Amino acid sequence: MEIKNEYLSNLMERVIARDPEQAEYHQAVSEVLYSLTPVVEARPELISEGVMDCLVEPERLVKFRVPWEDDKGNFHVNRGYRVQFNSAIGPYKGGLRFHPSVNESIVKFLGFEQTFKNSLTGLPIGGGKGGSDFDPKGKSDAEVMRFCQSFMNELFKYIGPDTDVPAGDIGVGAREIGYLFGQYKRLRNEFTGVLTGKGLSYGGSLARTEATGYGLCYFADNFLRDAGKSFDGATVLISGSGNVALYACQKAQSMGAKVVAMSDSAGYVYDPDGINFELMRQLKEKERKRIKAYADAQPAATYHEGCRGIWTIPCDIALPCATQNEIDLESAKTLLKNGCYAVCEGSNMSSTADAIDALQGAGILFAPSKACNAGGVAVSALEMSQNSMRFFWSFEEVDNHLHQIMNDLYHNVVNAAEQYGMAGNLVAGANIAGFLKVADSMLAYGLV
Ligand code: NDP
Repeated sequence: MEIKNEYLSNLMERVIARDPEQAEYHQAVSEVLYSLTPVVEARPELISEGVMDCLVEPERLVKFRVPWEDDKGNFHVNRGYRVQFNSAIGPYKGGLRFHPSVNESIVKFLGFEQTFKNSLTGLPIGGGKGGSDFDPKGKSDAEVMRFCQSFMNELFKYIGPDTDVPAGDIGVGAREIGYLFGQYKRLRNEFTGVLTGKGLSYGGSLARTEATGYGLCYFADNFLRDAGKSFDGATVLISGSGNVALYACQKAQSMGAKVVAMSDSAGYVYDPDGINFELMRQLKEKERKRIKAYADAQPAATYHEGCRGIWTIPCDIALPCATQNEIDLESAKTLLKNGCYAVCEGSNMSSTADAIDALQGAGILFAPSKACNAGGVAVSALEMSQNSMRFFWSFEEVDNHLHQIMNDLYHNVVNAAEQYGMAGNLVAGANIAGFLKVADSMLAYGLV
């Protein structure tokens, strides 16, 4: 993807020169600047009034130490981050990720993507992201609690219900949100909707747990049907077995798909009879076991070491739902060779740039994460609304809102791609549709 516009190409070079080691961030920015070329050429004020330069620099990035004590009394120090990327259209909003791979490049790429995704939902939320290189895997509940409390001891200074509202992401689920919210409440002496993904007993929203996976399937369903295809009877691969993957599996199955494989970072399970969702949920969500346990419990299923192997299984539709860059060029070529006709990204930036080129070049359906997985943050924004109203909606009400938001989002993305001469290119459509509202707001504020 060569950026042809001279100003944008130079801007990309400046982004790289400023932080040369931030490969994931460069990847995310490069894709967006490439897509925005026709917009910028039609509207030169976006350059002359500083919008493009401001867009690629976060408003604020905080980085802090997080000391904590393990169960044996040993001390550890991890690093915490919060990037407050863009507040043009609302308070910063985006998840916290606890995973050893977290660094400044990862939180910046996620915060940058989040800005466009949040805009695409049509709701008033800006972009942010954060996390730590702490690994909750293998830690006791007490250790996770002490870590979360220490993390919040610093983070609370920068967030608030009208300023920045974090949520979960990889490694941050209901347990971690509970510890984080409890500590915020204690420090501020306030009960506010400062985090989303909360437990139902203390201000969470029904259907938030399911929202990203369900939203992915609602989006994909629109995309497939417009192309004369459907989930019904399709063979589907879903990578990951966390929050997004589990509920994508449940919704895809309810739409008639046969999900034959899921994975974790160590390997994947193949079940020719179709994944037993309740068993998978029990093992992964409740018992926190490795995915291998599924094959031990389900006689027809087999376990295979190595998570990338999942893409070698023949399928009609692939839903990557684990982590960034999990579909590389080789995996993309294997999917194509085996007849896959649709890839819809559940995880953020699931595919490498050359993998996207290969998939789009082959003419199959490809939908990018910032459009497909926006359902999670959309329901987070609905959780904020319910918290502000001090009221709860039923599961059906929230799910109906989610479904409508994903339908509208799909059509906006398709229309934006068409309007700028790239019909069918949902990567461009998502970047452009997400950008316009943010850019118009930034122009309205003047250079700030
Ligand atoms: P979870 O922590 O619940 O699950 C993550 C899953 O991905 C686990 O199965 C994990 O396996 C696997 N995984 C993590 N890192 C790697 C890796 N390096 N290689 C292979 N597999 C890996 O996270 P979520 O389901 O919440 O998030 C998944 C993706 O969806 C992320 O990209 C996230 O940013 C994105 N997302 C999540 C939203 C949400 O609402 N939760 C909203 C929008 C996007 P293991 O257990 O072995 O680590």
